[in-house]
Amino acid sequence: MTTADVDRADYVLVGHSHFDHIAGVETIASNTGARVIASNESVRVLRDAGVDSQQLMPSQGGERHELAPGITVRVIPSLHSCIWEGGSWDPNEVVIGHYGLSEHEKQEVRDRSGGRSNRRGSEIGNQASKPDAMTVQQMEEHQASTIGSNVDGGVLAYLFETPYGSIFWQDTSGCWTRLLSDLRPDFAIVAMAGRANIDGDPIQGSLAQYVARVTDLLRPSRLTLGHHDNWMPPLTRDLTSEDALSAVRSEISKVSPSSELVQLPYLSGFTVFE
Ligand SMILES: [Zn+2]
Repeated sequence: MTTADVDRADYVLVGHSHFDHIAGVETIASNTGARVIASNESVRVLRDAGVDSQQLMPSQGGERHELAPGITVRVIPSLHSCIWEGGSWDPNEVVIGHYGLSEHEKQEVRDRSGGRSNRRGSEIGNQASKPDAMTVQQMEEHQASTIGSNVDGGVLAYLFETPYGSIFWQDTSGCWTRLLSDLRPDFAIVAMAGRANIDGDPIQGSLAQYVARVTDLLRPSRLTLGHHDNWMPPLTRDLTSEDALSAVRSEISKVSPSSELVQLPYLSGFTVFE
């Protein structure tokens, strides 16, 4: 299934402007006439890709859009994971350091890692890969051929409010903690990839602890993970295994034991509220 197969949509919400989050939005918007809620930079990328300005709803955080009678979405300013440093693909691995750096110092970290956004990425790329796996060059060609921005363009998270309950969604592992603590959604979609960003600094801890931290702030009845699949092989890894999930469950049980982690099926429906 591709975005070209989507024949009906009222709204598309964009978390940020990187290619793996925005590519395909132009196809859905053009084929369905859907309106698009996105940051100013994401709106610029989509306008350049030919999306009608009338469909674009530039947002910065703080807006509340009505999607349908009784259903609204609040736009919440958010943060990207620390791509200048990367992180670990092991959700249990505690990573510390790189705290309180200036932008200049972050650039030095980036230069030392050879420009790869993930410190494990170059190692994985050098491993003998399966014959059918993409090479790093093929992946980079794919990236260059899709729309997107080389900056995150301002990260947005969303809170959907419906008569049946509310849903929080973020698409990269970062947050402003003070903006999450009063939201109290019923269901949360928490991103799990890279070195998580807490209030502008890399988390001093593991990816699983990041998910637990967000869960502790939000206290949802149920949550699921996002961005944890093998979305850009050979640079990324699959974090959907039962091992990865049990690492997350273990951390969640320490801070918010009543929050249940559920796994969503891939490319099929899931009923959030009965
Ligand atoms: Zn990104």
